[in-house]
Amino acid sequence: MSFADLGLSDELLRAVNESGYTEPTPIQASAIPSVLMMRDLIGIAQTGTGKTASFVLPMIDILAHGRSRARMPRSLILEPTRELAAQVAENFEKYGKYHKLSMALLIGGVSMTDQQKALEKGVDVLIATPGRLMDLFGRGKILLNGCSLLVIDEADRMLDMGFIPDIEEICTKLPKQRQTLLFSATMPPPIKKLADKFLTNPKNIEV
Ligand code: AMP
Repeated sequence: MSFADLGLSDELLRAVNESGYTEPTPIQASAIPSVLMMRDLIGIAQTGTGKTASFVLPMIDILAHGRSRARMPRSLILEPTRELAAQVAENFEKYGKYHKLSMALLIGGVSMTDQQKALEKGVDVLIATPGRLMDLFGRGKILLNGCSLLVIDEADRMLDMGFIPDIEEICTKLPKQRQTLLFSATMPPPIKKLADKFLTNPKNIEV
């Protein structure tokens, strides 16, 4: 199996190649084609398995294919910590270097004014921790009704940190017609319940 077999664009294959990766990891090989086919997904995977690229790569191609004139955010990646959110943003920049997509990193500890300016210019993807996202939403600074692609990453850590009510609330603000990807190292009952409530006919991958 090579990256070229997964259905990714040439620009993305070039960026992947320049990252030095020669072949997809098992989660990338299973997840990427079904994400590109717009399916919901539950990925049971630890960090270190290459799970970030398994959602960032197809997301870049999905976003590159459609454009919103209003430049409303079209996708949202939720991460439990600032550090993880920043890492995902780095991945997004690395793999997306041949695409003209814009993102906003919405995390605590960073000036809210700068984040608001980025949002006003218009972005394609939001990478956020639930607290900061809810805060900006509460101030009327973000429209979430164009986000038709949602990633809930590290769901079990979100649970440990008490973020599940925030995530449920965020889900209700997104369009009902959307694609949702959920990643977790384990599947405790509250995460299973969250997946049952907010995902539709997901593909299940365990690595
Ligand atoms: P993650 O599980 O997403 O945190 O990724 C773990 C590490 O694996 C990161 O340092 C990635 O840069 C690296 N990585 C991701 N995909 C591949 C791949 N296909 N081949 C080699 N390394 C990879």
